[in-house]
Amino acid sequence: MLVENFARVQTEIAAACQRAGRDARSVTLVAVSKLHSPQAMLMAYQAGVRHFGENRVEEAAPKKAAFLDLLPKDAPPPTWHMIGHIQSRKAQAVIETFDVIHAVDSWRLAERIDRLAADHNARPTIMLQINISGEESKAGLGADQWETSPTQRQTLWEVVESISHLTAIHAIGLMTMAPYVAEPEATRPVFAGLRCLRDALAVDFPTMTWDALSMGMTNDYPVAIEEGATHVRIGRAIFGETEKGY
Ligand SMILES: *Cc1c(COP(=O)(O)O)cnc(C)c1O
Repeated sequence: MLVENFARVQTEIAAACQRAGRDARSVTLVAVSKLHSPQAMLMAYQAGVRHFGENRVEEAAPKKAAFLDLLPKDAPPPTWHMIGHIQSRKAQAVIETFDVIHAVDSWRLAERIDRLAADHNARPTIMLQINISGEESKAGLGADQWETSPTQRQTLWEVVESISHLTAIHAIGLMTMAPYVAEPEATRPVFAGLRCLRDALAVDFPTMTWDALSMGMTNDYPVAIEEGATHVRIGRAIFGETEKGY
Protein backbone atom coordinates (compact mmCIF):
# COMPACT_ATOMS: atom_id res chain seq x y z
CA MET A 1 0.00 0.00 0.00
CA LEU A 2 2.74 2.41 1.01
CA VAL A 3 4.63 1.78 -2.22
CA GLU A 4 1.53 2.57 -4.30
CA ASN A 5 0.75 5.62 -2.15
CA PHE A 6 4.24 6.99 -2.60
CA ALA A 7 4.12 6.39 -6.36
CA ARG A 8 0.74 8.14 -6.56
CA VAL A 9 2.04 11.18 -4.67
CA GLN A 10 5.11 11.38 -6.91
CA THR A 11 2.89 11.23 -9.99
CA GLU A 12 0.69 14.02 -8.59
CA ILE A 13 3.74 16.14 -7.81
CA ALA A 14 5.06 15.66 -11.36
CA ALA A 15 1.64 16.56 -12.82
CA ALA A 16 1.37 19.71 -10.70
CA CYS A 17 4.91 20.71 -11.70
CA GLN A 18 4.05 20.20 -15.35
CA ARG A 19 0.93 22.38 -15.04
CA ALA A 20 3.07 25.09 -13.46
CA GLY A 21 5.94 24.72 -15.92
CA ARG A 22 8.30 23.64 -13.13
CA ASP A 23 10.97 20.97 -12.89
CA ALA A 24 9.75 18.15 -10.61
CA ARG A 25 13.19 18.16 -8.97
CA SER A 26 12.44 21.62 -7.59
CA VAL A 27 9.99 20.07 -5.10
CA THR A 28 11.25 18.21 -2.02
CA LEU A 29 8.80 15.61 -0.78
CA VAL A 30 8.93 15.46 3.02
CA ALA A 31 7.18 12.28 4.18
CA VAL A 32 5.56 13.08 7.51
CA SER A 33 6.04 9.95 9.63
CA LYS A 34 4.64 11.25 12.93
CA LEU A 35 2.74 8.52 14.79
CA HIS A 36 4.13 5.87 12.44
CA SER A 37 6.61 3.19 13.40
CA PRO A 38 10.29 2.85 12.44
CA GLN A 39 9.25 -0.22 10.41
CA ALA A 40 6.78 1.87 8.38
CA MET A 41 9.53 4.44 7.90
CA LEU A 42 11.87 1.75 6.61
CA MET A 43 9.24 0.68 4.08
CA ALA A 44 8.95 4.30 3.00
CA TYR A 45 12.72 4.57 2.70
CA GLN A 46 12.82 1.42 0.58
CA ALA A 47 10.10 2.92 -1.64
CA GLY A 48 12.36 5.94 -2.19
CA VAL A 49 11.61 8.42 0.62
CA ARG A 50 14.76 10.40 1.55
CA HIS A 51 13.19 13.18 3.66
CA PHE A 52 11.27 12.48 6.87
CA GLY A 53 9.19 15.04 8.76
CA GLU A 54 8.22 14.82 12.44
CA ASN A 55 6.42 17.32 14.65
CA ARG A 56 7.51 16.30 18.18
CA VAL A 57 11.16 15.86 19.09
CA GLU A 58 10.39 13.53 22.01
CA GLU A 59 8.77 11.13 19.57
CA ALA A 60 11.24 11.70 16.74
CA ALA A 61 14.57 11.29 18.56
CA PRO A 62 14.10 7.65 19.70
CA LYS A 63 12.32 6.76 16.45
CA LYS A 64 15.16 8.14 14.38
CA ALA A 65 17.62 5.99 16.35
CA ALA A 66 15.42 2.90 15.92
CA PHE A 67 15.04 3.60 12.20
CA LEU A 68 18.79 4.04 11.70
CA ASP A 69 19.33 0.68 13.43
CA LEU A 70 17.07 -0.95 10.84
CA LEU A 71 18.79 0.80 7.93
CA PRO A 72 21.66 -1.11 6.25
CA LYS A 73 24.95 0.49 7.26
CA ASP A 74 25.93 1.52 3.73
CA ALA A 75 22.53 3.12 2.94
CA PRO A 76 22.63 6.92 2.62
CA PRO A 77 20.89 8.46 5.65
CA PRO A 78 17.77 10.53 5.00
CA THR A 79 17.34 14.20 5.86
CA TRP A 80 15.33 14.94 9.02
CA HIS A 81 12.81 17.78 9.05
CA MET A 82 11.24 19.26 12.19
CA ILE A 83 7.85 20.58 11.04
CA GLY A 84 6.11 21.24 14.37
CA HIS A 85 6.10 24.04 16.90
CA ILE A 86 9.19 24.07 19.13
CA GLN A 87 9.11 24.78 22.85
CA SER A 88 12.16 26.73 23.96
CA ARG A 89 13.36 24.08 26.38
CA LYS A 90 13.38 21.47 23.60
CA ALA A 91 15.45 23.54 21.17
CA GLN A 92 18.63 21.72 22.11
CA ALA A 93 17.15 18.28 21.34
CA VAL A 94 15.73 19.63 18.09
CA ILE A 95 19.16 20.79 16.92
CA GLU A 96 20.66 17.42 17.78
CA THR A 97 17.95 15.47 15.95
CA PHE A 98 17.04 17.46 12.85
CA ASP A 99 18.76 18.92 9.79
CA VAL A 100 16.00 21.32 8.72
CA ILE A 101 13.71 23.24 11.08
CA HIS A 102 10.55 24.45 9.32
CA ALA A 103 8.63 26.19 12.09
CA VAL A 104 10.74 28.97 13.61
CA ASP A 105 7.94 31.27 14.72
CA SER A 106 9.54 33.93 16.94
CA TRP A 107 12.69 35.99 17.30
CA ARG A 108 13.22 34.42 20.72
CA LEU A 109 13.27 30.92 19.26
CA ALA A 110 15.50 31.91 16.31
CA GLU A 111 17.98 33.53 18.66
CA ARG A 112 17.99 30.53 20.99
CA ILE A 113 18.50 28.04 18.17
CA ASP A 114 21.31 30.18 16.83
CA ARG A 115 23.08 30.34 20.19
CA LEU A 116 22.75 26.59 20.84
CA ALA A 117 23.88 25.81 17.29
CA ALA A 118 26.94 28.02 17.69
CA ASP A 119 27.82 26.19 20.93
CA HIS A 120 27.62 22.87 19.10
CA ASN A 121 29.28 23.91 15.87
CA ALA A 122 26.01 23.02 14.13
CA ARG A 123 24.56 24.93 11.20
CA PRO A 124 20.85 24.07 11.11
CA THR A 125 18.80 25.11 8.13
CA ILE A 126 15.66 26.95 9.19
CA MET A 127 12.49 28.44 7.76
CA LEU A 128 10.27 31.09 9.31
CA GLN A 129 6.72 29.97 9.99
CA ILE A 130 4.23 32.55 8.84
CA ASN A 131 0.57 32.83 9.79
CA ILE A 132 -0.71 34.18 6.49
CA SER A 133 -4.38 33.27 6.94
CA GLY A 134 -4.78 35.03 10.30
CA GLU A 135 -6.42 31.97 11.85
CA GLU A 136 -6.02 32.29 15.59
CA SER A 137 -5.31 28.61 16.03
CA LYS A 138 -2.26 28.76 13.78
CA ALA A 139 1.27 29.42 14.98
CA GLY A 140 3.62 31.65 13.07
CA LEU A 141 4.72 35.22 12.69
CA GLY A 142 1.63 37.29 11.94
CA ALA A 143 1.37 38.31 8.29
CA ASP A 144 -2.32 38.26 7.39
CA GLN A 145 -2.29 42.03 6.81
CA TRP A 146 1.32 42.80 5.95
CA GLU A 147 0.27 44.64 2.76
CA THR A 148 -2.30 46.89 4.45
CA SER A 149 -1.08 47.26 8.03
CA PRO A 150 2.20 49.20 8.34
CA THR A 151 2.41 48.12 11.98
CA GLN A 152 2.21 44.44 11.19
CA ARG A 153 4.63 44.81 8.32
CA GLN A 154 7.12 46.66 10.47
CA THR A 155 6.94 44.07 13.26
CA LEU A 156 7.63 41.26 10.82
CA TRP A 157 10.36 43.17 9.00
CA GLU A 158 12.10 43.88 12.31
CA VAL A 159 12.13 40.18 13.19
CA VAL A 160 13.60 39.31 9.80
CA GLU A 161 16.16 42.11 10.12
CA SER A 162 17.29 40.70 13.48
CA ILE A 163 17.42 37.17 12.13
CA SER A 164 19.52 38.35 9.19
CA HIS A 165 22.36 39.05 11.66
CA LEU A 166 22.40 35.54 13.15
CA THR A 167 25.37 33.56 11.90
CA ALA A 168 24.95 29.94 13.03
CA ILE A 169 21.54 29.27 11.53
CA HIS A 170 21.02 29.20 7.80
CA ALA A 171 17.59 30.64 6.95
CA ILE A 172 16.32 29.53 3.53
CA GLY A 173 12.71 30.77 3.33
CA LEU A 174 9.16 30.57 4.68
CA MET A 175 6.72 27.91 5.85
CA THR A 176 2.96 28.05 6.35
CA MET A 177 -0.04 25.88 7.08
CA ALA A 178 -3.24 26.57 5.18
CA PRO A 179 -6.58 26.37 6.99
CA TYR A 180 -8.32 23.06 6.54
CA VAL A 181 -11.03 23.43 3.91
CA ALA A 182 -13.05 20.85 2.01
CA GLU A 183 -12.18 22.33 -1.38
CA PRO A 184 -8.36 22.46 -1.91
CA GLU A 185 -8.72 25.24 -4.47
CA ALA A 186 -9.83 27.53 -1.63
CA THR A 187 -6.31 27.37 -0.17
CA ARG A 188 -4.74 28.95 -3.26
CA PRO A 189 -4.79 32.56 -1.95
CA VAL A 190 -2.91 31.45 1.18
CA PHE A 191 -0.12 29.85 -0.85
CA ALA A 192 0.01 32.72 -3.35
CA GLY A 193 0.09 35.10 -0.37
CA LEU A 194 3.11 33.37 1.14
CA ARG A 195 4.91 33.58 -2.20
CA CYS A 196 4.15 37.33 -2.49
CA LEU A 197 5.44 37.93 1.01
CA ARG A 198 8.60 35.97 0.22
CA ASP A 199 9.14 38.04 -2.94
CA ALA A 200 8.81 41.26 -0.92
CA LEU A 201 11.23 40.06 1.77
CA ALA A 202 13.71 38.98 -0.90
CA VAL A 203 13.76 42.54 -2.27
CA ASP A 204 14.29 44.12 1.16
CA PHE A 205 16.75 41.52 2.52
CA PRO A 206 18.83 40.61 -0.52
CA THR A 207 21.72 39.15 1.47
CA MET A 208 19.48 36.37 2.82
CA THR A 209 18.35 33.21 1.02
CA TRP A 210 14.65 33.10 0.11
CA ASP A 211 14.37 30.03 -2.12
CA ALA A 212 12.25 27.83 0.13
CA LEU A 213 8.46 27.78 0.44
CA SER A 214 7.34 24.92 2.69
CA MET A 215 3.62 24.66 2.03
CA GLY A 216 1.12 21.96 1.07
CA MET A 217 -0.03 18.82 2.87
CA THR A 218 -2.13 15.79 1.88
CA ASN A 219 -5.24 17.90 1.28
CA ASP A 220 -3.74 20.66 -0.80
CA TYR A 221 -0.21 19.92 -2.07
CA PRO A 222 -0.99 20.08 -5.82
CA VAL A 223 -2.34 23.62 -5.38
CA ALA A 224 0.67 24.56 -3.23
CA ILE A 225 3.06 23.32 -5.93
CA GLU A 226 1.24 25.32 -8.59
CA GLU A 227 1.83 28.37 -6.34
CA GLY A 228 5.53 27.68 -5.90
CA ALA A 229 6.00 25.23 -3.01
CA THR A 230 9.57 23.87 -2.79
CA HIS A 231 8.81 21.57 0.16
CA VAL A 232 5.54 19.67 0.55
CA ARG A 233 4.89 17.93 3.89
CA ILE A 234 2.80 14.84 3.27
CA GLY A 235 1.65 12.34 5.87
CA ARG A 236 -1.65 10.59 5.25
CA ALA A 237 -1.34 10.32 1.46
CA ILE A 238 1.82 8.24 1.99
CA PHE A 239 1.39 6.42 5.32
CA GLY A 240 -2.39 6.18 5.37
CA GLU A 241 -4.33 7.08 8.46
CA THR A 242 -2.45 7.03 11.75
CA GLU A 243 -1.24 3.69 13.08
CA LYS A 244 -2.82 3.10 16.44
CA GLY A 245 -0.55 2.71 19.38
CA TYR A 246 2.73 4.15 18.21
C1 LIG B 1 0.93 16.38 10.26
C2 LIG B 1 1.50 17.52 9.53
C3 LIG B 1 1.61 17.50 8.13
C4 LIG B 1 1.10 16.35 7.28
O1 LIG B 1 -0.29 16.31 7.27
P1 LIG B 1 -1.12 15.31 6.32
O2 LIG B 1 -2.45 15.92 6.24
O3 LIG B 1 -1.09 13.98 7.00
O4 LIG B 1 -0.42 15.28 5.01
C5 LIG B 1 2.20 18.58 7.51
N1 LIG B 1 2.65 19.65 8.21
C6 LIG B 1 2.57 19.72 9.55
C7 LIG B 1 3.09 20.92 10.25
C8 LIG B 1 1.99 18.66 10.25
O5 LIG B 1 1.89 18.73 11.59
